[in-house]
Amino acid sequence: ASREAAGVVRAALGVIAATIDANVDELGRIDAVAGDGDHGIGMQRGAKAALTAGTAVDAGAGTTLARAAAAWADKAGGTSGALWGVILSSVANRLGDNGKPTLADLTAGVADGAKGVMDYGKAEVGDKTLVDALVPFAEALQRNADAGADLPTAWKAAAEDAARAAKATADLLPRMGRARPHAEKSLGTPDPGAHSLALIATAIGELLEG
Ligand code: ADP
Ligand code: MG
Ligand code: MG
Repeated sequence: ASREAAGVVRAALGVIAATIDANVDELGRIDAVAGDGDHGIGMQRGAKAALTAGTAVDAGAGTTLARAAAAWADKAGGTSGALWGVILSSVANRLGDNGKPTLADLTAGVADGAKGVMDYGKAEVGDKTLVDALVPFAEALQRNADAGADLPTAWKAAAEDAARAAKATADLLPRMGRARPHAEKSLGTPDPGAHSLALIATAIGELLEG
């Protein structure tokens, strides 16, 4: 069972890398509006390193994802690289190495990730960062789990909330990170980190639906 669960983690890492590859130019373009334009290539470096590390290890789901998280943080560079390391390692800690990932594990892991990102980066909801997609995503997972949804259904609906929330960051002025000095320029454009987070959540939702 633990081998099988690690296979699910590796499949998710593959989907993340493929999703970033398919959107690398768009993410760079969005980041160039008010930031430094490197969000696509940074996420691509991180996702690729995570997939490589996750594929190299022969362990359960938690250890596999923890190695991938460390590799992402190490190789991606940029603010978002460190934050993705926090998100993935938080999920890894909840998965553990025994058995298959459950909705309860993933819900707790994503909630820990949101807390960890806010502790690390000090951004709050409304600051126009990936927190604006991550917090609604975590809250929706919890709500859907409480309502008795199964994992694919709960995840898919939460990913839709994350995508809506990421889109809505277009109306916000950035208060954190590199975009802050160019705040007005970013009006009308979503936050790149919120957008990439929603893309990843959506793609994993499609994987879970099978
Ligand atoms: P960098 O800004 O170092 O070039 P990236 O371009 O890869 O890194 O990532 C930029 C994204 O990182 C932003 O769009 C935002 O979502 C996220 N970000 C930046 N600073 C913070 C922060 N303090 N807390 C949460 N997210 C942040
Ligand atoms: Mg950048
Ligand atoms: Mg940068």
